[in-house]
Parts: sequence; structure tokens; C-alpha cells
Amino acid sequence: MRPAYQVKTCFGPTIQGEGPRQGAPCVFLRLAGCNAWDGRSETRAESACPYCDTDFRGGEPLDAAAILQRLRELCQGRSGLGLVISGGEPLLQVDEELIALLAPHFPWIDIETNGTRPAPPRPPQVQVVCSPKAVPGQPLVVVPDAWKILIPAQEQFLAQALESPAPVWLQPVCPDHGPSGPAYAANLARCLDLAYRHGCRISIQAHKYLGVE
Ligand code: SF4
Repeated sequence: MRPAYQVKTCFGPTIQGEGPRQGAPCVFLRLAGCNAWDGRSETRAESACPYCDTDFRGGEPLDAAAILQRLRELCQGRSGLGLVISGGEPLLQVDEELIALLAPHFPWIDIETNGTRPAPPRPPQVQVVCSPKAVPGQPLVVVPDAWKILIPAQEQFLAQALESPAPVWLQPVCPDHGPSGPAYAANLARCLDLAYRHGCRISIQAHKYLGVE
């Protein structure tokens, strides 16, 4: 039997704020742990993701059935909610068994990955969205269904994304205080410039504008 999944939290209902399904109501499964940063504030600046805004440390071990139970409780009395599987880096843990159990219960599932781990086989309603990160010694290996490129932090991956058949979303890096201020405006302007030049779409972290988790 496989070890339990380390789950940081399950929450919702909320709104998928990023990527192809931004604006769609959903619940979240946030898995613990990441291979791009150890999650400690003292090491954030030197990590592969100094802009990371997620607490993915700790959590609790749950088996697949217990995860489904938690998610179904969040969905109770509601219909049409999708599922976002995030982290941390979810593909450190997500496997075929978990996807097979969860997929029949949701109209769609997004798996948000940094791209350094392969994705297991999945049905068409389960899509892998890659926000590529430059993790030393860990090249991109995932074949995503969509790209979400953080601008300007990960612009070096844009050419590779544009050469692939998957659609590309550009997302301005957001300061800790939220989507405002001169730095954010500059990042947004860069996204718009690249979108106009390459036909990419814009991902604006809609949850931050809506004031939801
Ligand atoms: S890969 Fe994602 S979760 Fe991990 S440190 Fe980077 S931004 Fe944060």
C-alpha cells in the first residue's frame, strides 16, 4: 500500500483565480511540500521562487479516500464545483490512483505544477497547468495541457511554451501586498506587451481581486 498523501489543507468553495479556468468555482486540495523551496521565510529570497505566496509546510497524512471525503464535505449542497490540486508541488505526490478516485466526482480538475515532475495518465477533464520554475538541477519534464508563465520572473520559458501546442497564459508577478503599486503595474504592462506580440492570454489571479482565498 502506498504511503498516505501529505495534505496541507482542503478549502473552498472558492474561485480558481489563475490560468485557463480562472473565474470558475471550485474547491482546493493543497498538498504539502515543494522541490523549489523549503518554505522557510529565511530561505525564500535565495530560492527558485522568491515571490512564492503559499504556505505549504506541514499538513497531515491522509489516504485517497479521506481526501475525497474532505472534498465532498466542502462541496455539500452545491453543484458544478471543479477541483484545483495545488501545492507546494503536487506532482511530488499525485499519482494515477488519486486521480482515478477523484476524477469521477468533479466536472474538471486542474493540477498546478512547476513542471519538474512527470504527470500521471489522466482523463481529458483533468488538465495539467505548468507554471515553469527554474529549479537548479531539475529540468522541465512535464508535457502540460496549458502554460502559465509568471512575468517577468519566468519569461525565459516563454519561447519554449510558445513552441508547444499548449496554450499560454501570462501572469504578472504580484507583490506580497496584493495586485497594486508601480511594480505590479510594470509587470502587468509587460504581460500585455507580450500578449499583443504573441497572442497569449492574461491570467490575473482573479481570487485576489475578488477577495477570496
Ligand atoms: S514551485 Fe510553486 S509552491 Fe513551490 S516554491 Fe515555487 S511558487 Fe511556491
